[in-house]
Amino acid sequence: AGYTVAIVGRPNVGKSTFFNRLLEQRKAIVDDVSGVTRDRQYGIAEWNGKTFNVIDTGGFVPKSNDVFEQEIKKQVLIALEEADALVFMTDTATGITDLDEAMADVLRRTTKPVYLVVNKVDNNQRLLEATEFYGLGFENIFFLSAISGSGTGEVLDAITEKI
Ligand code: GDP
Ligand code: MG
Repeated sequence: AGYTVAIVGRPNVGKSTFFNRLLEQRKAIVDDVSGVTRDRQYGIAEWNGKTFNVIDTGGFVPKSNDVFEQEIKKQVLIALEEADALVFMTDTATGITDLDEAMADVLRRTTKPVYLVVNKVDNNQRLLEATEFYGLGFENIFFLSAISGSGTGEVLDAITEKI
């Protein structure tokens, strides 16, 4: 029960770093789902006095490249079913990749809120580079550094506004 936000994105963009930051800062409970479903983690976050469930997706990394895009898309579709809102995480250190484009294609079709988060914006140079992400065509776009925590408050404000 309750409002659920899923964090999706290709491997290595910083999803788990962001997830852990949300839980750590808000002293939430981490329920590590072990065994067969090791590809997702569930937690509870709190912001502006509002509580919501957070899902960290994508721990599963397929070994062969041809199933890779399929698998990632499948994870996005599962997240779309489970969640009320999606954080679509990307990485300005690598820029927009084919996999980002593929995920964007899936996420543009939902009527649920999608928050495009451009991560690893650690300095002003990175912020300049990050403007290319406007090209993915999402209305809600946020630039942050999950490692330092800068910029995380803005996206949390936007998410909790809808709860
Ligand atoms: P995931 O695969 O999407 O869950 O990504 P992780 O959270 O595991 O992070 C992948 C790598 O990116 C790790 O080495 C993180 O320390 C690094 N990382 C995450 N957030 C940031 C950030 O804001 N800035 C920088 N420079 N590195 C980051
Ligand atoms: Mg991860």
